Amino acid sequence: VEHTTDVIVIGGGGAGLAAAVSAHQNGAKVIVVEKMPRLGGNTILSGSAYNAVDPGRQSKQGIEDSIDKHFTQTYEGGDKQGKPELIRTLVENAYPAIEWLESMGMEFNDKVFTVLGGLWPRAHKPVKPLGTGFMDTYQNYINNNDGIEVMLDTKVTELIVDGNRVVGIKAEDLNGDVVINANNGVVIAAGGFGANIEMREKYNTSWPSLTNIKTTNHPGATGDGLTLAEKIGGNLVGMENIQLLPMGDPKTGSLSGNIEQGVENRIFVNKDGNRFVDEGQRRDVMTKALMEQKDSFMWVIVDKHSYPTGDTKNNFNESIDELIAQDRAFKADTLEELAEKIGVDASNFVKAVDNFNKSVEKGSADEFGRTLFADKIDTPPFYAGGRVPTVHHTMGGIEINTSAQVLDKDGNVIPGLYAAGEVTGGIHGANRLGGNALADITVYGKIAGESAAAKK
Ligand code: ADP
Repeated sequence: VEHTTDVIVIGGGGAGLAAAVSAHQNGAKVIVVEKMPRLGGNTILSGSAYNAVDPGRQSKQGIEDSIDKHFTQTYEGGDKQGKPELIRTLVENAYPAIEWLESMGMEFNDKVFTVLGGLWPRAHKPVKPLGTGFMDTYQNYINNNDGIEVMLDTKVTELIVDGNRVVGIKAEDLNGDVVINANNGVVIAAGGFGANIEMREKYNTSWPSLTNIKTTNHPGATGDGLTLAEKIGGNLVGMENIQLLPMGDPKTGSLSGNIEQGVENRIFVNKDGNRFVDEGQRRDVMTKALMEQKDSFMWVIVDKHSYPTGDTKNNFNESIDELIAQDRAFKADTLEELAEKIGVDASNFVKAVDNFNKSVEKGSADEFGRTLFADKIDTPPFYAGGRVPTVHHTMGGIEINTSAQVLDKDGNVIPGLYAAGEVTGGIHGANRLGGNALADITVYGKIAGESAAAKK
């Protein structure tokens, strides 16, 4: 079967649908090709914290921030391996992209917060749970406008090149081969490779073997987009930079079941009941510290401040009572009793919490260097939930410029080819700040759509 359209988007996650909508807003007819039976990719599974400097919301909470600060934290938080001009484009366009989403009906909470490894209170949380707010917003746009077609269960296998210009794709659907020609351009938005164990091992140099580590990713995060681009000369950068989180469910690796509610009011303890890291640190620092603990296992500890009632929900829409009933969280009225329930040394555990509470009172850096405090852990009931390292995000990928055009190994633009989202590299460097991915995929998805529609 052969089709022709203006812009082809490979992948129907957050970056792909941002690109599809923006290409359509810029006058293009669009086909989105998604290999899985549904849209959403990793985006729909994400906690969906979205970093943006937003004086309107932040000033109400007395938070000082600036585009330069967001830039510097992103650049330095990635060990200066990201390309400055790409980071600049990200941080400058993060808030305008929120306004773009709001113009399509998406709602964000008024309160901003610091997400795990986000380093600053500039994370915006959609009103709808997980990534559903993003996906519903794009889906509504697609439903209400003619000109964006979505093909599910259709896996792109090849880019078609004419001369040096990308002019279409080959794919396979449930009935066989599909060819789609693109009058204007092809956007690769096929996500990362966190679920591809072979590829992780091929590129990983910054961690011990990741073969037996689980992932937060959906099973389609296999790096197909990287292979497609590389095959026609696209340059891949920073592929060794793989992000793990210390927050995986011990059974599945998923982020679900995580009992933390913001980073200020929880501590981590190991199987001996001792703290071991600054819990406000970068994601890589916390995960490396966790890997040095017995069984690479820790307990997240919170109290009533995080769960005023049993039906209070976590970021994954699970109530604490539900998690307790499933033995995924534990609850007790005293710290000693909680220690016994989770099998850690009670005197270590009580001392760890007491010392933390003293630091909260003092408000200055504690023995691990932590400076991020709000409430003490002093109000029963107390809660514990187990967590292990999990592969979360792949920072490396296709090299692009600030127009989301794909570059070859000599730094030249490959005409007709654009990329956005987790499939790209060179933005987050060695470590991505929590809350920067949603901003990245939205900003660059939107730019890629504009560039492709304009045949830039
Ligand atoms: P991002 O956050 O960058 O948007 P996601 O993981 O949310 O990344 O979305 C990427 C999407 O691309 C997923 O839905 C995934 O199934 C899809 N995808 C991956 N490889 C292919 C492929 N070969 N053909 C079509 N879709 C693909």
